[in-house]
Formats: sequence, C-alpha cells, structure tokens
Amino acid sequence: MKWDEAAETAQELIPIPPIMAPFARLQSEKIARHKGLDRVTAGVVGETVKVYREFMGKEKFEELKAFLEGRGPAPAMEEELFFSDENALYHIDVCYTKYGENTQEVRNILKDMLQSVKTVCEEERLTEIMADLAPVALHGASRFSVGMTGCPNCCVSPYLKDFGIILQHRVDITDAECTQCGECLKMCFDTALRLTANGPVIDRDKCVMCELCARDCPTGKLVAGKRGFLVIAGGSGARNAKLAAPVERFTTKDRVLTILRNAIGKLRKAQTGDTLKKIIDREGAKALR
Ligand code: SF4
Ligand code: SF4
Repeated sequence: MKWDEAAETAQELIPIPPIMAPFARLQSEKIARHKGLDRVTAGVVGETVKVYREFMGKEKFEELKAFLEGRGPAPAMEEELFFSDENALYHIDVCYTKYGENTQEVRNILKDMLQSVKTVCEEERLTEIMADLAPVALHGASRFSVGMTGCPNCCVSPYLKDFGIILQHRVDITDAECTQCGECLKMCFDTALRLTANGPVIDRDKCVMCELCARDCPTGKLVAGKRGFLVIAGGSGARNAKLAAPVERFTTKDRVLTILRNAIGKLRKAQTGDTLKKIIDREGAKALR
C-alpha cells in the first residue's frame, strides 16, 4: 500500500516500543483498507495513535511520548531483567518487560523474582543435576528452562518451558461510580466482564487476571488489587511437545520458590534421560506442591 509523506513522518513519531513499530504500520494499513483508501494518510495514522494509546494504557503511552519529545527519560531497560550465564545449565527468560514494557512496579516484582530464582538454581546445584540427567553430549537443549512473564499474555511462551511463572493481577470492584463509558469492556478479550446497570461484573472463572480493564477506568470503579503468581511446570516445545500444567494459582513468591525447589528435588532423584515433563506425566503437576 502507498503512504503519503506526512503519514510516514507521523508514523515514525508514534510513541511505541521499537519492537512494535512494524505492527503499527500494518495497523495503519488495516485502517486505511477498512476506510476504502488505497493509501495511508496522516489522518489514518492519527487513528492508529488512538488504537495504541488504548492498547498500551495512558501511563505507558505518555511516558514514551515524553521521551520522544525530549521531555522525559528513556524507558528503562534494566540489566537485572536479562539472564545470561554460559556456565549454567539453566536458562531464565523474562518477557518484554525486560525491554521496558509494563510498569515500574511490575518490573521490580520480576527483578526480585529473577534474582531469587537464580539463587535457588545455584543453591540447589541445578547445573550439575541437569548435566547428570543428559543422555547425550551437553548442548543447548540440556538446559532447564524457566519462563517468567509480567502478565498472562505469556510472551516468551512459559507454557513451553520446564517451569513457568506468570504474574497475575486481581481486579477489584469498588464503590466508586460507573459511568457506563465501556472502556473496560474494550480491553477484556476474554469476555470475562459484562456491564450491568449497577456497573461491571467479572466472571472470575473466565478472568485471566490481566488487569487491562482496570488500567484506564476513569472513575476508579475497577482498580488493580492484589498480585499473585501462577506456577506452571512440565512444558516442552521440543520433541513430544507439551504445554506446562498448572501447579498452583495466584500464589505467593515464597510458594513459587518452594515449588521450584521441589521440582529440582524431583530432578535430583531422577534417572538419566528424565525431564520435568516426564516426571509430571508420571506423577501429575500437584506432586511439586
Ligand atoms: S467500570 Fe469504569 S471503565 Fe468500565 S464502564 Fe464503568 S466507568 Fe467505564
Ligand atoms: S482482568 Fe479479567 S475481567 Fe479484566 S480485562 Fe483481564 S480478563 Fe477481563
């Protein structure tokens, strides 16, 4: 599709993380197509801006905008959210939070968790255990994999890792007024939320605890409440791929680390060639509690 020069310039100035820029271009072309246009105009890009502002939340969007306009600092890319240790037979992958996504509060929670997970892996001598379990020459797939995400979007696929830690955000309904603006409905992709004359109602069985509905509620009727962790284990994206199974939902950091120690304990007693996936196939995910 063709692009007007003014549209190209406006597109480059959309305050989004660089990793999202190609998608934002496709979004503009989608909007143009839906309008029956054969080119992207500056007006179309204006609509793309609104779409991303809603998607990313006002706080994050304004932070990036301030940076692009030279009024604020660069979004944080904190070293502590990157794991790299070529002497370890485990790998810990953190979601896009490591590139400055999410709020500082969420980044701090993940930084703290990553540090603790590393400590547990070191204390339990996980590298030696994984080396002893490997049936062939040690290589990348001999590593124990951990995936950590700041929300249930699950970028970095924790469901395909040996051990997954997913931060969950419970949304509370307060006594504040609901103006029926519908902002919350737009953000609930899981149809867990409905609006009644008395305000929002959440189906807790369907809710994945992403907190997106609360993020931009203008009155505070919906607010982010307590946070917890969903722990999953036994996933694999390799041979005989399998999704990790839930071990414990909305649990505390201490419990996450206890479950991790239990998982490593199982591996310590396992036979050559065993993996956490095979152990969970035999014993069930609850055996890690
Ligand atoms: S709960 Fe908040 S976002 Fe949802 S309709 Fe009411 S005021 Fe709007
Ligand atoms: S927290 Fe629950 S109700 Fe709110 S948007 Fe996410 S899934 Fe929907």
